[in-house]
Amino acid sequence: MRATVMDIYRLLPKTNCGKCGEASCMAFATKLSEKEADVSLCTQMTDKEKEKLDDALAPAVREIVIGTGEKAITIGGDEVLYRYELTFYNPTPLVIEVSDDLTDEEFEKKVKTAEETEFERTGEKLKLDAVAVRNKSGNTQKFVEAVKKVKDSKLALVLCTFDPETMKAALEIVGDQRPLIYGATEYNLQNMADLALEYDCPLTLFVPHDLEKMKELSYSLRSAGIKDIVLDPGTFVKGGTGDTLDEFKMIRRLAVEQRDPDFRFPIMGVPAIYWLIGKESEVEKGIREAVTAAKLMNSYADILIIHGTEIWELIPVLTLRQSLYTDPRKPQAVEPGLYEFGELDESSPVMLTTNFALTYYTVEGDLKSGNANCYLLVLDTNGRAVDVSVAGNQFTGKAVAELIKEAGIEDRVNHKTLIIPGLGAPVSGEIEDESGWEVLVGPRDSSAAPDFLVKLKQEAK
Ligand code: SF4
Repeated sequence: MRATVMDIYRLLPKTNCGKCGEASCMAFATKLSEKEADVSLCTQMTDKEKEKLDDALAPAVREIVIGTGEKAITIGGDEVLYRYELTFYNPTPLVIEVSDDLTDEEFEKKVKTAEETEFERTGEKLKLDAVAVRNKSGNTQKFVEAVKKVKDSKLALVLCTFDPETMKAALEIVGDQRPLIYGATEYNLQNMADLALEYDCPLTLFVPHDLEKMKELSYSLRSAGIKDIVLDPGTFVKGGTGDTLDEFKMIRRLAVEQRDPDFRFPIMGVPAIYWLIGKESEVEKGIREAVTAAKLMNSYADILIIHGTEIWELIPVLTLRQSLYTDPRKPQAVEPGLYEFGELDESSPVMLTTNFALTYYTVEGDLKSGNANCYLLVLDTNGRAVDVSVAGNQFTGKAVAELIKEAGIEDRVNHKTLIIPGLGAPVSGEIEDESGWEVLVGPRDSSAAPDFLVKLKQEAK
C-alpha cells in the first residue's frame, strides 16, 4: 500500500530544524505524501536514508520515459485507483500508428498530421504525443526505410515488430532516441530483453489474455535487469471490451493494492485493433476506436495506440484526457483582473465573470468569436463558477467593488455600468450598494453576450 504520512515521517530525522522550508518534519512528510516536495530538500539525511525514503515514496506504477530531450514523454507514475484520492499523473499519450506498407506520400501525410494536430481547450493546447511505426509488411528493409522517415520527427517513437532481427535493424537507426520497443512475447523474450538492455530502451511485454503468464514473464524480464516495462494484456473487442477492461483493472489493483512487483508498470491499450479486424465503414471504425480509447483511458490505460487521425475522433479523446488528468485538489482558475477584447475606448462596456477556468475560457471564446469590443473584469472566486460562487459567498458585492477599484477600470471608462452574468442576478443590488456602479444583468449563457452588447449599443444611440 501507499506510504502514509506517518510511514514517511518515521523515515525523516524528526529534528524539526526547518531547513527544508517547512516548520516541522511532519509538515514536510505531508508535502512529500502529496508529491508537493522533493526528498532532496531535507539536508539532514544521509544518502542511504534518502534512498530508503525514495523507495518508500516510489509510485505504485513505475514512471517510464519514452524518447529523449524535447520529444520525451513520461507514462505511469500513478499512486491511486481513484482520482479523488490524490490525482492521476502523466496524461495518457496518444500514439498514432503508421504502417511500413504505406506509400511515401501516405506515410509522410500521416506523420505530419500526427505532428500538427492541435487544438486549444480552456487555455491548454491539446496534442498527439508519439508515432508507432508498425512492421505490417513483415519485411525488415521496408521497416528500416519507414523508421528512417521518422528519425527526425518531433514526436517520440514506438517501434512495432515481434521479430528481433528487424527490431535490431531499426534500433541501429533510432536506438539513441529511446523508442518504446514493442514488443516482447513468450516466444522472443530473451532476444527482445537483450535489445532493451543493449539500447537502454523501455520494452513492452505483450501477453494476451493471460495474467498468470504475464506475471511469470514480467518476473523474467525484471530478473534479466529490465526496469522499464510496459504491460500489454491485449485489447479484445470481439464480443465487447468487458474482458479487456477487467484485465486492465486487475493489473492496476495488483499494482496499487498489492504492490505486486510484476505488475507495477504502465499499461498499454491498442484501440487501433478496430482497423485490423473490423469490417465496418471507416467512419464506424473511427467511432468505435474513439469509444474504446475513452473506455481504456478510464480503466487505467497509460499509453494508447490509435490509427485514426480524423479530428472528430481525436477531440473527444483528448478532451476526456484533459478532464481526467486535472488535479481535483486544485481549482482550475485563471488570473483575476481586467481583460480586454477588441477595439476599446472610454465608452466601451464592462462585463464581469469569475476566474473558474472553464467559465473564463467559454466567455473568452464567445466574446472573440462574436467580435465583441468590451472590458471583462474577472473576479477571484477561487476557481468557482458563477452560481457556485454566489451560493458560496465568493461572488459578493464587496468583492466586486474591490475588484473594480483594484483593476483601475474607473480610469479607463467614462461610465459606471457593469454587466454581470445572468446567474449573478441575486447579488446585483448588493454590487450596486457596495460599488456605486449601476448593474445590468446580462445573459445566463455567454454565447448570447455579443448580441447583448450590440443591442445595448443600439439602444444607447
Ligand atoms: S530539513 Fe529534514 S530534519 Fe529538518 S525539518 Fe525538514 S524534514 Fe525535518
